[in-house]
Amino acid sequence: MVRNKKITAVVLAGGRGKRMESKISKQFLELGGNPVLYYALNTFEKSIVDEIILVAAEGEEEYCKKKIVEQYHLKKVTNIVTGGKERYHSVYNGLCAAGQPDIVMIHDGARPFITEDIIEKAAQKTLEYQACVVGVKVKDTIKISRQDVIVDTPDRKRLWQVQTPQCFEYKEIREAYEKALQENTDNITDDAMIWEKYSKIPVRLVEGSYFNIKITTKEDMVFGEAILNCKNQ
Ligand code: C5P
Repeated sequence: MVRNKKITAVVLAGGRGKRMESKISKQFLELGGNPVLYYALNTFEKSIVDEIILVAAEGEEEYCKKKIVEQYHLKKVTNIVTGGKERYHSVYNGLCAAGQPDIVMIHDGARPFITEDIIEKAAQKTLEYQACVVGVKVKDTIKISRQDVIVDTPDRKRLWQVQTPQCFEYKEIREAYEKALQENTDNITDDAMIWEKYSKIPVRLVEGSYFNIKITTKEDMVFGEAILNCKNQ
């Protein structure tokens, strides 16, 4: 039973969001009158998760505390820690601040539309299989290229676009992260990559939602407003 296990969410807001081309970090931009970061935190607050570790960019910790955690009465946020240079450094700082959970769910604070249902499904699957990531099947045909030349077309039926949360047994993912950091592994763009490299146990996929977008560029704010409007109807 997943309810007997301690579950920690590490919510990442340590990025500077250069691709947004905005002076305000993307996680603080307003969507439907609230900061982007509020939405994911609020969903984890209402969910089966026991504690939330919020990872903030250096210098933004106090802003997160006052304007988000206190303002929205987010009681499950037990710790606000400083992020690192790359996403995986931020994740590791978050993992170190977790209070010895059984399961950890690592989530991009820039993905406001995660649902309690998906969180519960992912937690169950982690309990059963130790590691899983939320994702959706790709809709487009994907090409592998060398500069502007197509060199391969992988079979679309086997391709998934992975999202977050990415969920793992806590002890194992922390150890895997420690090995990756010691070996100075680079080009790490998600957490599953680290598990794939250091564990023999396969990572399972959990069907997520096409609404679970990551706010990265300006267009995503338009999509985000549209998703909010349709969810509020
Ligand atoms: O940069 P990217 O879009 O992949 O970031 C995904 C998530 O990771 C965002 O929520 C961002 O705030 C976070 N991040 C972080 N620390 C970094 C870089 C990104 O917490 N150094």
